[in-house]
Amino acid sequence: MTIYIDQHSYHYEMENLVRLFFPNEKIVTASGIPENLSLPCVITSVSNSEGKAVIFTRVCINDFDKQSSTEVNNDDPDFEKTAERAMAVCLYELLCELTGKCQPWGILTGVRPIKLFRRLSEKNGEQYAKDYFEKELLVSKEKTELSAMTEKYERKILALSRPESYSLYVSIPFCPTRCSYCSFVSQTVEKTKKLIQPYFELLCKELVYTAKIVKDCHLRLESVYIGGGTPTTLSAEQLKVLIDTIRINYDMSSCREFTVEAGRPDTIDEEKLQAIYSGGADRISINPQTLNDSVLEVIGRKHTSEQTIKAYELAVKTGFKHINTDLIAGLPTDTLPSFVSTLDRICRLNPASITVHTLALKRSSRLTLQGQGVQTDGAGCAADMLRYCEQKLTGSGYHPYYLYRQTRMEGNLENVGWSAEGFDGIYNVFVMDETHTIIGCGAGAVTKLKVPGGEELSRIFNYKYPYEYISGFDEMLKRKEQVREFYDKLS
Ligand code: SF4
Repeated sequence: MTIYIDQHSYHYEMENLVRLFFPNEKIVTASGIPENLSLPCVITSVSNSEGKAVIFTRVCINDFDKQSSTEVNNDDPDFEKTAERAMAVCLYELLCELTGKCQPWGILTGVRPIKLFRRLSEKNGEQYAKDYFEKELLVSKEKTELSAMTEKYERKILALSRPESYSLYVSIPFCPTRCSYCSFVSQTVEKTKKLIQPYFELLCKELVYTAKIVKDCHLRLESVYIGGGTPTTLSAEQLKVLIDTIRINYDMSSCREFTVEAGRPDTIDEEKLQAIYSGGADRISINPQTLNDSVLEVIGRKHTSEQTIKAYELAVKTGFKHINTDLIAGLPTDTLPSFVSTLDRICRLNPASITVHTLALKRSSRLTLQGQGVQTDGAGCAADMLRYCEQKLTGSGYHPYYLYRQTRMEGNLENVGWSAEGFDGIYNVFVMDETHTIIGCGAGAVTKLKVPGGEELSRIFNYKYPYEYISGFDEMLKRKEQVREFYDKLS
């Protein structure tokens, strides 16, 4: 499908919008409007004249050929934003008419709807934010209410951050096997076994080196997150050394949360849990994704639901109070009754928090490469799964404390972190809101430097793959000096 872009710069937004309705379609953009259109196509244009601009959209797909236009005052200081939104609304309405379905998040395609909701709320109050979501962005009432509820809890967490705050992210990019929906840089243990020990040793060195920099910059540590990949692919001894390296070199007195993503239940044992717990990590994430064994097999996770339950019980026995479990709605072959059964069983375990993701299929995932893109017919099912989650979890004493969206999500839905009172995952909120600086260590980690009170982020990229991380380690340490330069300039 071709999207013609004439006299405007909103091609990115228009492409994202079309993709909401045609997730598996190959879309190209072209400048100008030729005489002979390449079909199927979408035409978008802006024609400026004195004092006004005409926003025009036309959709020619199969037998459908309709157009829509509106006028915007081009003297308006916010003209570009208003015109872009007006174009999105015109196009959205045509696409709804063509496909016979609307999107739960309307014309909103951004990943951080809660950040936008908060800005609107701070400007003109919560009711204004709700009205703006529903009337201007065409977000459904259901998602508007969810946004308002999430923002209320998120706000309390954001208030904990100070100008000198930062969080630390540590990457362990290894997994036992690759899940079929995964697009991360994570490498399977089988292929990279030899790299784990040298990688691990250099990671500890990077942590020590970086600790000195953050100390010199007088930064205050709020949270630590060891993620991946699957950090529990490391041995108990490696986990102990890693956590000790962090504890000894960083000032943990201000640290409010220390998470280790245990991820795959088949990598968890008593010794590893003990190493994590006695090292001082207080939050652990055990991620079943589903408790349906046949779905687990389809998505390439080589563990059973029984292993998840055992790993969970072992974590409780070890002493963990904050155990998070991740689930995914919309997995291939999963059904509403099976998802309901998974969530009900998870709730019986009484975890402190439950993060419910919606399946998002990036281009590089095995499912996409095998030609199984986002299932448009599965979208309704994923929506029903999320509806059940909201009803079940609010009724079981959980609240939504963070929410974000991704591109290519089943049904264009969302990911929501639900927690029991006192068990919000604060790192998740800080990183998604881009509240303060995130210092990243390890392969694929990105350091994001934030000027307090500002909006811009300066990024420092670590090498992506373990072999590059190992061979380019010295260069990468040099890059870390940019953290010092950044804060020197601020002082
Ligand atoms: S556990 Fe996570 S990072 Fe590892 S392969 Fe599966 S989805 Fe990817």
